[in-house]
Amino acid sequence: MTLFIMLLIVGGGLYVYFSSTFERNKPVITLEHNNGYWNFKKPLHIKIEDDSAVKSYKVIMKNSNGDTTLVYEQLLIPEKNIDLNIKPPRGSYSIKDKEIKIIVQAQDVSKWNFLNGNASAVEYKLVIDKKRPQVSIVNNSYKISRGGSAIVIFKVQDDNLEDIYIEGNHGKHFLAEPFYKEGFYIALLAWPVQDNSFKATVVATDVAGNIGKAYVPLYLKEKQYRLSKIKLSDKFLKGKIADLAEDFEETQGVENSIEQFKIINEDVRAKNEALIHKYTSVVPQEMISRFKIKKMYPLKNAQVVARFGDHRKYYYHGEFISEAYHLGLDLASHAMAPIKSQNGGKVVFADYNGLYGNMPIISHGLGLYTLYGHCSSLDVSEGSDVVANSKIANTGKTGYAMGDHLHFGVLVQGIEVRPQEWMDKKWIKLNINDIIKSAKKIINGK
Ligand SMILES: [Zn+2]
Repeated sequence: MTLFIMLLIVGGGLYVYFSSTFERNKPVITLEHNNGYWNFKKPLHIKIEDDSAVKSYKVIMKNSNGDTTLVYEQLLIPEKNIDLNIKPPRGSYSIKDKEIKIIVQAQDVSKWNFLNGNASAVEYKLVIDKKRPQVSIVNNSYKISRGGSAIVIFKVQDDNLEDIYIEGNHGKHFLAEPFYKEGFYIALLAWPVQDNSFKATVVATDVAGNIGKAYVPLYLKEKQYRLSKIKLSDKFLKGKIADLAEDFEETQGVENSIEQFKIINEDVRAKNEALIHKYTSVVPQEMISRFKIKKMYPLKNAQVVARFGDHRKYYYHGEFISEAYHLGLDLASHAMAPIKSQNGGKVVFADYNGLYGNMPIISHGLGLYTLYGHCSSLDVSEGSDVVANSKIANTGKTGYAMGDHLHFGVLVQGIEVRPQEWMDKKWIKLNINDIIKSAKKIINGK
């Protein structure tokens, strides 16, 4: 009999110990997506989880005015997971405290603890930051043309700054570099040639979630680009295209010339351009006080053989096959002509890149890059420094090139821009160098 009672006690004890009715884990409280700041605008995300179920919870704000209950609930049907979006208290705009406390209490339905259940209480200290970052434009290029470049210098003030960028078309984020004095930034902008319009807005966010914005007042100048209809000849398909098709893994096993052309013009091109965009999207983050670019003329006594921005549509026996944009300026002089860079920089890529053949890319700072396609030989290698006016390569016809020429590309933060602007001394002075000069005067308060 005593044994039976003992077994009952032990059994009952084990039941209580292992049963979910008597679970002993406290509710777990988490304040999500928060780094210790609150702007009294965005709701606070609080998660309460419990192994049995939560039967009640309470969220209290403590500040110099005392305690305010933000939410209190006793659940008729207890829940295992509770997601709360706590809105700021009424009249929070008048709260002057720099810091407040949020206390979250929760209790579960467990019968543990002499049927009282398990209770949790967590206290969070939150810094109150209701101020949005102050963004002001110091100076910018007066205009930007389709396919062209511009520069902007701006000021951002905030105690808890988190991120600064310039939003362009299709959600593109242009990155800014700290400039000249604390709180000032500089960035190059580019209007992609395929886009009908352009808009740039400086955006600054702080850790409390406040957002400050300023629109860059650029005058938009439309520029027409050529639309070319190109007939694909059998000679071209059986010659250049058949040769290229042997080189690329994408065209292995593809026998049809039209198919080969389509794959080369679309898939291979996209892959080659993705590589270019990756290498040219990097913007240094150290503070700069000068950015001086000299007129670019990579090839002396050169003829322009194809323009930037040409929209090429390819046809075979009257049927549309494929299309592409020509995103550089093709220059030709004599075979294997020397290519020079008038601006110093760092070589970020120097290798074979499909349609572009042998191709070095040079970074000139501030997210400005130059690219040289179809080279026969290279004098530079990845990682090497380029001194202004030094020879970097020789022209050739590697990759997708008919004759010996240079495909000269200029990129701003991963976007191809019209090289002619950067080859025009007057354009550079008016749109870039003078803008920086007068920005410095404004910053110095002169
Ligand atoms: Zn080209």
